Amino acid sequence: MASVVMADVDEDNANREAFSRPLHKAFLANKVVCPMPQCVQHKLFFENNGLAQHFRMAHKKQMTDQDLSNSYSFMKRMYGEETLKYISYLSEKSTKTLASGSWFDVSGEGKVISIFGQDPKEVAKIYGMFLLHSGKLKTYCGSK
Ligand SMILES: [Zn+2]
Repeated sequence: MASVVMADVDEDNANREAFSRPLHKAFLANKVVCPMPQCVQHKLFFENNGLAQHFRMAHKKQMTDQDLSNSYSFMKRMYGEETLKYISYLSEKSTKTLASGSWFDVSGEGKVISIFGQDPKEVAKIYGMFLLHSGKLKTYCGSK
């Protein structure tokens, strides 16, 4: 459900122009990133079958289970990082558009992020999107 909320926000044309979310689009399209160093920095995304073909063609080797596992790890980490940046972007925007609200510091994993929201409950939900997108929060409704 949390990802639906973020997806809805992404449908806003103004946001789409101001903030690009390539990981979010790849995730919704069930694409994964090539985990090889020369590819991951350029965020080359593929469907699962396409990644195996990409390994044969570009890297001249068969994709292993470890390669796929590395790909999922990169996707979660990069998607989480992207979501954190997006949360910061939306928080800044909310200070201008919301009639009321406050900044709340949320800490986790040695990092502190300031999130703007109406109350702590709303801020906790927003931070939950980061946890979900980075793979740290398990869902009970599917594989994502
Ligand atoms: Zn590659």
